[in-house]
Amino acid sequence: MNIFKQKEREFALKRIPTLKERFPEAKQILEFLECILEYHNRVIEDLSDRDISIDLSSAEARIEKGKPALKLKDMDLRPYLPYLREILTKASDCGTENIREGARFLLDQPEEEVLSLIGYFLENQMADDVSRMIFTAWIQPILYSIADRISFNRDQWLKNFCPVCGFKPSVSFIMDSEEGEGVRFLRCSLCLTDWIYVRTKCVNCGNVEDDKMDYFVEKSMEYIQVQVCQKCKHYIKIVDLRKDGLAVPDLEDVASVALDLWAEERDYTKIEKNLFGF
Ligand SMILES: [Zn+2]
Ligand SMILES: [Zn+2]
Repeated sequence: MNIFKQKEREFALKRIPTLKERFPEAKQILEFLECILEYHNRVIEDLSDRDISIDLSSAEARIEKGKPALKLKDMDLRPYLPYLREILTKASDCGTENIREGARFLLDQPEEEVLSLIGYFLENQMADDVSRMIFTAWIQPILYSIADRISFNRDQWLKNFCPVCGFKPSVSFIMDSEEGEGVRFLRCSLCLTDWIYVRTKCVNCGNVEDDKMDYFVEKSMEYIQVQVCQKCKHYIKIVDLRKDGLAVPDLEDVASVALDLWAEERDYTKIEKNLFGF
């Protein structure tokens, strides 16, 4: 495991208390997220020296051709099923009422049935909110560990879907990086891979007309912008790490649920929902 990536997730767990203080209205979600991040860090640690049986050179060759590195529907997920049991048990302990119910339902299903539901989700990027949340929480650290071994130029992909798994990004962020100052990245909703994207371009429809793009900020959280495309009525948040260097984009997205409610009231659709369906 790349030390930076492993540290980023360990750091993510330490970010939770700050977010709970800053976003008291999201306390319940953040407590559940804490529980999930503990599971993630354990799985990442567990997989760090394990053979992942992925042909890395053909995965990287696919990225070169503009296709996602992994063919999710062809992946053998059986070796990772014990982790599914673990996250389902966690979700049935610390989830909200409907998540607990969903987790208990899945725990009672035969393995083949659950695998087929997961297969459908991975292929179509669709599932009901509770299953989607559980499947994403389960597979995220697994794909995160795999993604870490796949090399690609993060400044050359520039597409609106993930170079590793093909899912859409649920959040974006700006930071100074080795690629330049104030560079905008997208972060994958499924495997958390980051890649560069044009700062003023709509992630949904590719619109670059300035007068059809709006940016909204809420005073109490100025480091998070909502980028709204008036052409397709979609939005994504942009977390500015130059304003808060300790921010963790996927966590800030979950915590700032108030911005999603604001956007929903105005009939804007998020490019992709986060782990909790916002
Ligand atoms: Zn991905
Ligand atoms: Zn658009």
